[in-house]
Amino acid sequence: MPDAASHLPFFYGSISRSEAEEYLKLAGMSDGLFLLRQCLRSLGGYVLSMVHNLQFYHYPIERQLNGTYAIAGGKAHCGPEELCEFYSKDADGLCCTLRKPCNRPSGVALQPGVFDSMRDNMVREYIRQTWKLEGDALEQAIISQAPQVEKLIATTAHEKMPWYHSNISREEAERRLYSGAQPDGKFLLRERKENGTYALSLVYGKTVYHYRIDQDKSGKYSIPEGTKFDTLWQLVEYLKLKPDGLIYFLKESCHNPNMPAGELTLKGRTSCEHQTSGHVTDPWSCSPVEGPGKSRLLPMDTSVYESPYSDPEELKDKKLFLKRDHLMIDEVELGSGNFGCVRKGVYKMRKKQIDVAIKVLKSNNEKAVKDEMMKEAQIMHQLDNPYIVRMIGVCEAESLMLVMEMASGGPLNKFLSSKREEIPVSNVVELMHQVSIGMKYLEEKNFVHRDLAARNVLLVNQHYAKISDFGLSKALAADDSYYKARTAGKWPLKWYAPECILYHKFSSKSDVWSYGVTMWEAFTYGQKPYKKMKGPEVISFIEQGKRMECPADCPAEMYKLMQQCWTYKWEDRPGFAAVETIIRSYYYSIAAKIEKGPEETEEDKAKAACP
Ligand code: AMP
Repeated sequence: MPDAASHLPFFYGSISRSEAEEYLKLAGMSDGLFLLRQCLRSLGGYVLSMVHNLQFYHYPIERQLNGTYAIAGGKAHCGPEELCEFYSKDADGLCCTLRKPCNRPSGVALQPGVFDSMRDNMVREYIRQTWKLEGDALEQAIISQAPQVEKLIATTAHEKMPWYHSNISREEAERRLYSGAQPDGKFLLRERKENGTYALSLVYGKTVYHYRIDQDKSGKYSIPEGTKFDTLWQLVEYLKLKPDGLIYFLKESCHNPNMPAGELTLKGRTSCEHQTSGHVTDPWSCSPVEGPGKSRLLPMDTSVYESPYSDPEELKDKKLFLKRDHLMIDEVELGSGNFGCVRKGVYKMRKKQIDVAIKVLKSNNEKAVKDEMMKEAQIMHQLDNPYIVRMIGVCEAESLMLVMEMASGGPLNKFLSSKREEIPVSNVVELMHQVSIGMKYLEEKNFVHRDLAARNVLLVNQHYAKISDFGLSKALAADDSYYKARTAGKWPLKWYAPECILYHKFSSKSDVWSYGVTMWEAFTYGQKPYKKMKGPEVISFIEQGKRMECPADCPAEMYKLMQQCWTYKWEDRPGFAAVETIIRSYYYSIAAKIEKGPEETEEDKAKAACP
């Protein structure tokens, strides 16, 4: 996840106070000269270092619980950039206003923090071990969940450090520190037997000193009377630079001989466990719309993240046609269409039973409709992605039935219009990012969806979306880049790109156009696109170079992406690989604020909305 300040030329990353002062000296020590650096104490915080009357001033900027940034006692700002902008106009308690940025000299790169350089590997290992994922499922979990997982592991990163010796006694700590050389500053950190607190053991003058590590009510760590830190590894990194009350600073880590390579413990897991056997409960019930502070269910915690056939035992039974006696059909209707209705059900597999949605064809339907449903089944049978509704199989009995994974949250447009007040914009970005991952997968496999719309994005829960309805989809031949329809059908014109309507040409690029319309539906919380216009009016509207307006409260970056999706010429339009990258980097940049309460999200909206 990029640092919220990484684009600022006066941000240096993880440098020490004395290094900051050196840079300020080199830049001339004028009044109001300033730079920004990563805070070594608080996770996600910064320090503003500045000059006034030839003196240095260092102001810690804390990232607050609601995701905003503030200098103690000062106003809150939505990002470090906005904060600096504010203080350039109003000193508001600082020694003077920020007048001149002390930019990084050419050739000086951002200094990564300890955690920055470990983060990617830790996220990967954590996801692999916690959810037992491999291959594509692992890669996609990393892309879609990096910000959430990062938060989980930030608090457990110390367990990966060589200086962490877990639960050993004071005597054993001394034995380990006295073995081999005993330079000043050799140290280790251990968990104390008493109520899970920690202690730091440090060598100085061939003697071992032990320091208790306190944890305050808000969870911050400190040595008694010392500076407070969000995490143990930050405390250690800080004490490497400064003794802060210790007899000596931490210098050389005493390696834990039992440190298991690549091992991560699973603290911080959400409360709903991944179910691999028995009857799978409705994952929606684990995660109602959340309020602040409620634990949240990650897609990998649900039973529909991986295919039910990812278990080799189950794979042995995988066939297109399912046995009727393995299928239990509920009376509950999930939805309906011209073809018939979609019912809730349970499918019995070898080792488990899974909740399913069953598309039941009306018995009086003609052969053409049956053929269409079989075509849809053939397409879905070839797809396997966490962000696409998977087909389990078809069943021919009292009627033809398409058995699919259950996405019990219903269509995205309905969900958003009914929950407008509870769902922050950041949550919409998260879901639309997932849709882009699913569409990128289709693009890679050379499938065109041809009916991407918010009504066809189904939710597993508030934080997990899947693309559905492959009734119009086509698999393209390896060297074809588009599908040409011979005649126009009952088409969703408002979602279609100009080349679909004018030349009947459908490609991943025309799906990108539809993705833009789907984004518009999502950011308007389920409004109908092109309001009162009829299909043909929409075409002339587009031909005139007009586009739908930016939805209220929609981040400017997201409207810009919609406009890119609505590039008239398909050759100039981005593909899903590019769309996914754009929305991902925006999602990561706001992810720090994702899990916060509604107050701050309102502020988000106001700050980031289109002009
Ligand atoms: P469709 O004709 O595929 O658009 O389905 C009609 C309606 O049935 C949808 O809008 C959903 O409400 C419901 N539905 C379809 N597929 C599923 C599914 N896999 N899980 C849950 N509900 C579904």
